[in-house]
Amino acid sequence: MVKLNILDKQFRLFIPAEKIQQEVQRIADQINTDLKNEDVVFLGILNGAFMFASDLLRKINFNSKISFVKLASYEGTRSSGNVRELIGVNEDISNKHLIVIDDIIDTGHTLEAIIEELSKRKVAGVKVAALLFKPAAYQKNIPVDYAGFKIPNDFVVGYGLDYEGFGRNLTSIYTLTK
Ligand code: 5GP
Ligand code: MG
Repeated sequence: MVKLNILDKQFRLFIPAEKIQQEVQRIADQINTDLKNEDVVFLGILNGAFMFASDLLRKINFNSKISFVKLASYEGTRSSGNVRELIGVNEDISNKHLIVIDDIIDTGHTLEAIIEELSKRKVAGVKVAALLFKPAAYQKNIPVDYAGFKIPNDFVVGYGLDYEGFGRNLTSIYTLTK
């Protein structure tokens, strides 16, 4: 599928499913090397990261735990900058190495909110993995340790990312047609 309509918007194919899977494998390989000897808890950010987290964790080859938090900052096709926590961290994360998993890092507001929350707990370390990263939109200095595709500042859907709640189930990523 090269073109896609969701509600009032048209999208075109941007990153095909096979390329996404290759990139997820590359990120998993790095994490498998870097953190194999640590006590790791992966922390997926719902809703968007559910698919990336699910595929990534299947490729992790050491014993580790996964938990999810739910944050929301997007309204329609724009980041609101106002991050709300809907489900918090209810796992024992003290002395653990946390790997925050997000679908995409845009302005970085969401990332900053979660990092701030984690800094109040006695964790051993925090790393960040994101499948997509928009360098031109990023406003923070928090390093994105495992960044997949660096993309332009356009609105994308698929592979966990939605437009008005739709499109999360797509296995490829699509970009808004202007
Ligand atoms: P940030 O707080 O970094 O501005 O935004 C992060 C969150 O906004 C992501 O986790 C994602 O849920 C959402 N987001 C950012 N850019 C896009 C995009 O291009 N498409 C969609 N569907 N969601 C996005
Ligand atoms: Mg998200």
